[in-house]
Amino acid sequence: MLLSDSPLQTSARDHLLLHFSRNGSPAPLLVLERGEGPYVFDTEGNRYLDGLSSLFCAQIGYSYGEELASVAAAQLQQLAFSTIWTGAAHPAAIELAEALSEVMPGDLNHAFFTNGGSESVESAWKLVRQYHVANGEPQRTKAIARDRAYHGVTLGALSFTGVPGYKKQFGPPAIPVTHVSNTNMFRGMRDGEDEAAFCRRLLEEVEDAIQAEGPDTVAAIIMEPVQNAGGCLEPPAGYWPGLREIADRHGILLISDEVICGFGRLGEWLGVERYGVVPDLATTAKGLTSAYAPMGAVMVSDRVAAPFFDDPKRVLMHGFTFAGHPLSAAIAARNLEIFRRDGVLENVRAMEPHLRARLDELRALPIVGDVRGAGFFWAVELVKDDENTRLDAEERERVLRGFLPGRLLEAGLIARPDDRGDAVVHVAPPLISDAAVLDELAGRLGDVLADAQRVLHG
Ligand code: PLP
Repeated sequence: MLLSDSPLQTSARDHLLLHFSRNGSPAPLLVLERGEGPYVFDTEGNRYLDGLSSLFCAQIGYSYGEELASVAAAQLQQLAFSTIWTGAAHPAAIELAEALSEVMPGDLNHAFFTNGGSESVESAWKLVRQYHVANGEPQRTKAIARDRAYHGVTLGALSFTGVPGYKKQFGPPAIPVTHVSNTNMFRGMRDGEDEAAFCRRLLEEVEDAIQAEGPDTVAAIIMEPVQNAGGCLEPPAGYWPGLREIADRHGILLISDEVICGFGRLGEWLGVERYGVVPDLATTAKGLTSAYAPMGAVMVSDRVAAPFFDDPKRVLMHGFTFAGHPLSAAIAARNLEIFRRDGVLENVRAMEPHLRARLDELRALPIVGDVRGAGFFWAVELVKDDENTRLDAEERERVLRGFLPGRLLEAGLIARPDDRGDAVVHVAPPLISDAAVLDELAGRLGDVLADAQRVLHG
């Protein structure tokens, strides 16, 4: 099916450096050239169900090209580019900022545009720092994040990322960050501990970390509503309200990293809405445009934005040439309209129980230890036996890296084997997927995992 000696394969090998990939691997590349609904097609014509939404991006799937191309064409003919710095702006960015403020919870009324998730995270940090400096608290230089969390890889954002392997070659972190335990309810709960006790213990750990650093030196807490790395780690009930309370008590700003969870992945505009909290800042990207163009945004509350308006001479000391690009802004604005017009959030809310039920059936396979997630954001944890023993290094290499990627493609399914934490397979289908597509996803995944079971013990 995938021809390793096709001209594109050869050319890629000769000229294209792949991100987070084994560039020297002899395995053929998956070269996708077309999309339709929740499906993508490779250069050989093979069809795959995109069970990962192109890395959590393709919220509305692949069939809105004509509509969004006409939006793009109109914008490019009107004004191809203009910046939003040094006292200039353009209608597409202004209109998008207003449209975003309308859908965001609480008073997240201000948009700072970026080109992607890492830039959003790093920008949020620089806005936080400027807020504290303006308020006479320049000593707030530290942050709290979670173990195993992924917040991006630019050197600032990498400081918040809690995956040791992603950091170790790149020297000391730019920002001092204390990483606290994540919310792994499958592995992290102690014997006899219920969800409420687990939540209390985790929040005490956050409090202790803040006390250890000195509460008035901590600038921000940054966390995802549901943590991706580690496998869709949902928060225990009360966790986010607890974080909000701790942050408020200490004058610390709360950042919800919504790069994956935002724009419908959990059935809400912001994932954290599901947990009843309004953060001070929300970092977004991916689903903002459903990836029809690259773009990110930091949504900022009235309170955090206030210092930038209170003093007419104060400069917001941060920016990117391309951020808020008219093309991306116009596409993002139409993406929001499509969400409303075509009931994208409603579809996730309506279909979540079905997806949950279908994935839960996979628990019958001995290799499946846990199924967890929310909305259209799920992970299946792979285990060795009934005692839920973790896969060891050799098994991860053989099953997760050696077997699963090829077998998933053979089954016509894009999903993500991942062991930044424990061994999981992520699934996160486009948010327009109906029951039949979700059935197909669960069915194909089940077939693949049944085979993985044999390979594991073979
Ligand atoms: N934050 C979170 C939670 C993410 O999942 C990611 C990427 O997946 C990022 C930040 C970084 O985004 P980007 O790859 O667009 O820089």
